[in-house]
Amino acid sequence: MLAYIGLGSNLHNPSAQIENALSALAGSDGIELISVSSHYKSKPLLDMPGPNYINAVCKIDTTLTAIDLLDICQSIEDNQKRIRKVKWGSRTIDLDILLYEQQVISSDRLSIPHPEMIDRAFVMVPLYEIDKEINVPLLGPVKKLIDRVNKLDVKKI
Ligand code: AMP
Repeated sequence: MLAYIGLGSNLHNPSAQIENALSALAGSDGIELISVSSHYKSKPLLDMPGPNYINAVCKIDTTLTAIDLLDICQSIEDNQKRIRKVKWGSRTIDLDILLYEQQVISSDRLSIPHPEMIDRAFVMVPLYEIDKEINVPLLGPVKKLIDRVNKLDVKKI
């Protein structure tokens, strides 16, 4: 199954946090890392206080179910000591499953496509960088959806 994961961090050397999480994903049973976007810098959403974020998106090939993939993502977050205090608050690492094949999943633990992805430049710009042809189920091709976001909200680093 092809899946896309968004990564973000704004604490404790964010670029290193992203690279650690990518290594952990690549080292997990049932996951093959296919490609990774550049790192992008952005300001916290809604003018929340805190350092700027670094974000990236990766494409994986996986034999895991979506829920097993979520378990892996959450264990990577826990290993990197993500602090869940405030919704949208600062975090050492955040992993979001953006797309899982062309499946639409809506359960207690999982919403795929990730509900906020199409409004976030820090997701759509790196996603578009690594795959210009992908379709977001129910919403349309990334090639069209990319025009919804302000590309100036993110800076490639
Ligand atoms: P957040 O703090 O924004 O990372 O949200 C974490 C929560 O979102 C977890 O409890 C997950 O079960 C839930 N969640 C729902 N859909 C997704 C998704 N596509 N990827 C990652 N977490 C998800």
